[in-house]
Formats: sequence, C-alpha cells, structure tokens
Amino acid sequence: MTNALEQYDPQIYELIRQEQARQSGAIRLIPSENYVSRAVMLASGGCLTNKYAEGYPGRRYYEGQQVTDLIEKMARQRAKKLFKADHANVQPYSGSVANLAAYAALIQPGDTIMGMSHIDGGHLTHGGKVSLTSKFFKSVSYPVNPDTGRIDFDHLAELAKKHRPKLIISGATAYPREIDFEIFGQIAGDVGAYHISDIAHIAGLVVAGIHKSPVPYADIVSTTTHKTLRGPRGGMLLCKAEHAAAVNRAVFPGLQGGPHMHTMTAVAVALAEADTPEFIAYARQIVKNAKALAEMLLEYGFNLMSGGTDNHLILIDLRNKNIPGKKLAKALDRARIVTNYNSIPNDPSPPANPSGLRIGTPAITTRGMKEDQAREIAGLINKVAENIDNESAIEEVGKEALLLCSQFPVPDHFIIPNKSNSK
Ligand SMILES: *Cc1c(COP(=O)(O)O)cnc(C)c1O
Repeated sequence: MTNALEQYDPQIYELIRQEQARQSGAIRLIPSENYVSRAVMLASGGCLTNKYAEGYPGRRYYEGQQVTDLIEKMARQRAKKLFKADHANVQPYSGSVANLAAYAALIQPGDTIMGMSHIDGGHLTHGGKVSLTSKFFKSVSYPVNPDTGRIDFDHLAELAKKHRPKLIISGATAYPREIDFEIFGQIAGDVGAYHISDIAHIAGLVVAGIHKSPVPYADIVSTTTHKTLRGPRGGMLLCKAEHAAAVNRAVFPGLQGGPHMHTMTAVAVALAEADTPEFIAYARQIVKNAKALAEMLLEYGFNLMSGGTDNHLILIDLRNKNIPGKKLAKALDRARIVTNYNSIPNDPSPPANPSGLRIGTPAITTRGMKEDQAREIAGLINKVAENIDNESAIEEVGKEALLLCSQFPVPDHFIIPNKSNSK
C-alpha cells in the first residue's frame, strides 16, 4: 500500500519506512499500543476516508450513503454482539471524545463527577486538573489506597456520600488490577449517580471474558478501539437501550461532525477479528505474559504497584532503585525497549519527572511472544537499570532486544475471522 507513496511523496514515504522499522525493531511495551492486522490497516487506509456521513444510518445530512449506512450498521451490530450491549455508537473519534460524549449524554455542565485521580491511574478525561473535564464539571477524584495500590471501596463510598456526584467513572489508564464494576454500580446507585465505565485499556480482556464486563453494571461503557482491542485508533460507546438516543445526540450533533468512516470501517474489521477463538487465546496470553514479566521483575527486586498484575500492564515503583522514571524510560528506549514513565500513587515527584515506569504486554503478545520471552525482557529491563550510566552496556541490551525482535517478526494476517462469527 505504501509502495506507491514512494513515488508521490518520497519524504513522507521515507519517514513512514523509518517508523515501520522502529516498530518492528523494538520491544514495544507501552500498554496502550499494539500492532493491527493487515486487514485493519487496509480498511483504515481505504476510500471511506473520502466520504462525509454526518448523522446516522437512514438519517444522514448528505446523499451518497448507500454503502456507509451498511458499514455503520455492520460495525454497530458487531459491537453489540461482542460486548452484549443493547446499543453501540461507533462514531467517536477517540476515547477522550467518547468520554465527553458519555458525560454530555447524562449530566449538565457544573454537575459533579467522580473519577480516579489522574496521578493514581485515572485518565485525564476523568476530571483531571489540566483537563477541560474539571472545568466543565466539578471534579472530585478518588485515590487508590497508597499501601495496597488498590481501589478502596469503603473510602469511595464515603466520598460518594459526602460529595453526591451526578456521575461516577470506573476504569483507568494505569491500574494493574481487575476492577469490580459491580461494586461501582452499587455505590453509584446508592447515591443516585450514573455510572460510566471506561474500559479503554482492557476492552480486549473484557471481550475475551478474562475480566468481568461492566456492561450490565454501567449506564454507559466507553472504550477506545486501539489498545487491547487491537483495532484502528478510535472510540466507541455502549449503553442500555434507555440511553441510546441521548448517547447518539451527544456524539452527533453534540460534539462531533462527520464520523471518520475509514476508521469506522476498520473498527468493524477489528470487531470481527476480536470475535474469534484466536483472539480469546491472544487476550489470555497477554495476561500470562504480564504475570510472567511481573514475577521476574519482582525477583530482580523491582517494586510493583499492588505487588503484581491481573491484566496487561505493570506499574513499577522505581524509588528503591533510585532511578527516575524518565531516565530509565529514555535508557530503555536507546536499548530498543519502548516504555513510558508514569506517576505512581502518592508520587513525591512531579508528573513531568515521576517515580514510576508503566509497561504492558499487548504488542509483544501480538508478535507471538510468550512467558519465556516476557521473562527474558524482564532481564533486559533489569540490565539497563543496573547499567543506567553505562552506554556500552545499554547498547549490548539493544542488540539482544533486536535479536528477540527478529525471532518474533510483526505478523501480517494473524486472524481470519470465520464467516459465521463475523455477522
Ligand atoms: C487511552 C484512554 C483514553 C483516551 O483515549 P484517546 O484515544 O487517547 O483519546 C480514555 N480513557 C482511558 C481510561 C484511556 O486509557
């Protein structure tokens, strides 16, 4: 697909080529990243990018919707089936916009929202200080218990009783444990609040049945499509029938104009891929790999938030190693291991130079790596940490990482959804 680009725009072609080489020649441990299939890539790079489709199937504001209506209906149908939801809106441009639309569907500006504190693992859009969500709404954040690294539901219930939010958000962006969405639903119900669940990170684990789905316990479920779900970059909302009209109005015309039809098309492809036994096996392996990586890191003396992981991600507290998160992330990047520095609960250092490192296994698992490779990667991380000021040692680790990458090339066609599954 990109070959023709070489003739039309050699400069951009060359940059894409470099990025492709970087992605295949590095161990990518950023938990929100993945590799999509060729099928997803082709759909998202196709002619649907040329089409405006403001509105919804059967009720568009431009003509020429013979095909777009069918695609959107198919994407919605696949989403509803996969997540067992009454209604799906597949138009949100991304996870952040999906969250804004979910809030707009249920509450008014000035109302109180309650989400996990950004520094403890909540997403910016859950009412973070620098996010517009804390300006449009009154934001009360709930922390995790700094001793256990886990959500403290008694404290959450107390906060809810005290602040009487209109909306409670469950879900996180840097939380390594399974979240009990049912308790969230109860706490919200007890104070008359709506419950929105944001499963941006763990959507793939939810569709595989590894983590319990929030769909029965939340008014609206929000997700991205590009993290563990392994689709193109996008967002999606799922909800009960009673909220369907409000959700649709909030997305369009509330927040967005025309949906990105090429992305929606690729989302439909990814949803069919996720509706296969192969995907379930993939999602299970993500968690096995994360657990193996976590166990090995513990053996090397790393402190992990909450002591381990139930999902695809691990948050390392680096204070006992005396290495700032940013310094380690940059050294690892030079060693072809790509991570992100991250705040930890109660972080004594500022978010721009925090004490934690966040890693995850969705992308390496897509490459076919298993527990042995996860443990090997823990060893490479440890080697870089132990040689943090030794550039030649870091370079050596880079060679080992490259070897591992060459043994596990980025796959091309890894799932062909079976026809009966993909209706
Ligand atoms: C990634 C993420 C988002 C935002 O998604 P974008 O596509 O980056 O806008 C929202 N919520 C959570 C919990 C996330 O992890």
